[in-house]
Amino acid sequence: MTLKKSLTHSSKNLSSDALPVKDKEAVVRILSKRYQKSLVERVGRGSPYRILVATILSQRTRDETTERVAESFFRRFKSVWELDAANVGEIRNLIKSVGFSSQKAHNLKQTARILVEKYEGKVPDEEEKLKELPGVGQKTAGCILVYAFGKPALPVDTHVHRISNRLGWVKTKRPEETEKELKKVLKKDLWLPLNRIFVLFGREVCQPREPKCVLCPIKRFCKQKQKS
Ligand code: SF4
Repeated sequence: MTLKKSLTHSSKNLSSDALPVKDKEAVVRILSKRYQKSLVERVGRGSPYRILVATILSQRTRDETTERVAESFFRRFKSVWELDAANVGEIRNLIKSVGFSSQKAHNLKQTARILVEKYEGKVPDEEEKLKELPGVGQKTAGCILVYAFGKPALPVDTHVHRISNRLGWVKTKRPEETEKELKKVLKKDLWLPLNRIFVLFGREVCQPREPKCVLCPIKRFCKQKQKS
């Protein structure tokens, strides 16, 4: 099915549903039906170790590249202990197609060391502990909490920032502000799916320069569309 047909079909079906009264819930529900799994969830297969590595690999890297590199990576390093025993040169060589591969190879090696020494090889499930790992900032920690542990966090990247503003849910200039404001206006049960659905929707439809508003299944909820 073409993108146009698929979205039109999806929109038709969904608009006839008895959607919840609140707009934000309706938006999340509509997009959740369409975007069911993120790259990190697919590659991570529910394993916190895989999700942590995949999230780091995915930073500033195209999805297709991340997926291909992650699969080879996990064939070679099946556990954090195997990664800890590797040398940085081998890791770098294996991940050379992703962005910032040298830095990431060092970070992965150091991260494996910390996990083995401090956490018995387990990935911690607390934001502050995650942020102590090399290469893990606020957004990456949020992704790990959401995708590995199902904990309510709101990782905000450029897609989440842009779409939240276009929809009129927040009025912010930077992703860090957006995270704070979204936490005020969104019920916690909407936090979990938000990163996945907005990242995928932002790549496919609500793109940065030329959003495909004519195909958008949530246009009736969009403040930007109503202004144009
Ligand atoms: S109507 Fe356009 S700007 Fe608004 S959410 Fe949809 S694609 Fe984005």
